[in-house]
Amino acid sequence: MTCTTPDGTVIDLKTASKAWAAGRVEKEAQPTVYSKLYEAQHGRPPERFRFEVVVGTKTKEYRQGDKFLTTKRNEHDWAAFAARVRTMARMVKAGIFPPADPGSWICSPQHCGFFTTCPYQSRRVIAQVLAPRDEQGGNDGR
Ligand code: SF4
Repeated sequence: MTCTTPDGTVIDLKTASKAWAAGRVEKEAQPTVYSKLYEAQHGRPPERFRFEVVVGTKTKEYRQGDKFLTTKRNEHDWAAFAARVRTMARMVKAGIFPPADPGSWICSPQHCGFFTTCPYQSRRVIAQVLAPRDEQGGNDGR
């Protein structure tokens, strides 16, 4: 969920199982893209972009809104992002589809619908994913 405030802040609300590490905000592409969209709509870039991260959504015990989750992007950031997009577009046009980072949250059986047919996944891991629950120790017979 994203909103803007009258003082020119773009805020994006996230949920996470653990607090974000310091520095993560500078690696995220979303502030760059949203700042450009804000500029197109308002004729000027936003004053800042801030992530609000709700950590531990089951207990709702902690909300991470520290200042290190705030960033500001400029034309240099946009140029770097645009270079990535141009390269990705050329790869797609050439039929090259590189795998996601194995450490990425999306590269998992829970989040990727192609996981069990993906050529970048180990057959051993896929067999574990496809095994019936009782073979995984998840069924205690009750
Ligand atoms: S499982 Fe394969 S298709 Fe899915 S995100 Fe990972 S690399 Fe991409």
